[in-house]
Amino acid sequence: MSGEQKREHYHKIRMERKKAQIDAAIARADSEKGLLLVITGNGKGKSTSAFGMVGRALGHGMKVGVCQFIKSRTDTGEEAFFGAYDNCDWHVLGDGFTWDTQDRSGDIATSERGWEVASQMLSDPSYDLVVLDELTYLLSYDYLDKDLVLNTLSEKPEMQHVVVTGRNAISELKDLADTVSEVQDVKHAYKSGIKAQKGIDY
Ligand code: ATP
Ligand code: MG
Repeated sequence: MSGEQKREHYHKIRMERKKAQIDAAIARADSEKGLLLVITGNGKGKSTSAFGMVGRALGHGMKVGVCQFIKSRTDTGEEAFFGAYDNCDWHVLGDGFTWDTQDRSGDIATSERGWEVASQMLSDPSYDLVVLDELTYLLSYDYLDKDLVLNTLSEKPEMQHVVVTGRNAISELKDLADTVSEVQDVKHAYKSGIKAQKGIDY
């Protein structure tokens, strides 16, 4: 066998082995259920990951609910785009960042009002996907009762998918989740003085 033929031969053997492993893994992953996903970490890409799943779900004709905690802006591209779908209920439930409001009891009241909307969705099986954007802060700042939130999430409709985003997800939330991703900050344009950009950051 020439050098090139040998390479072809060993490549084929490696790929056959790989295919057998992949086929076996696909055969094992045969169950379906509504998932709890947590997208956390300090890097950019958490909320946009959730909105990517919103796009996928709407593309399949699924019903989607989005609750945006903390932030109060209603001029985002994501809300303009996805909020226009009949199948998508979009709620902006924040009052601004905690360092802007500087009002803990006000933040707690806002969080509780927002949670009312979220828990309605989490008890309604007609929602196929519910996004709880920036919910993690409401737990890490103790704005909401941790047990109440975790219980509601654990009792969500069986086939409903829920995505929670935000930094510093508490360990109990990560334990409860089926899928957890941590987006790592390698570098961010903001740190070189570039302001939030339309289409990229909002
Ligand atoms: P995105 O909505 O773009 O996916 P995110 O949800 O991961 O971002 P958040 O913590 O919710 O991040 O912050 C939202 C805003 O802060 C966005 O404008 C985003 O670009 C910016 N941002 C995210 N991560 C960083 C970072 N590591 N340094 C500076 N700015 C950041
Ligand atoms: Mg975010």
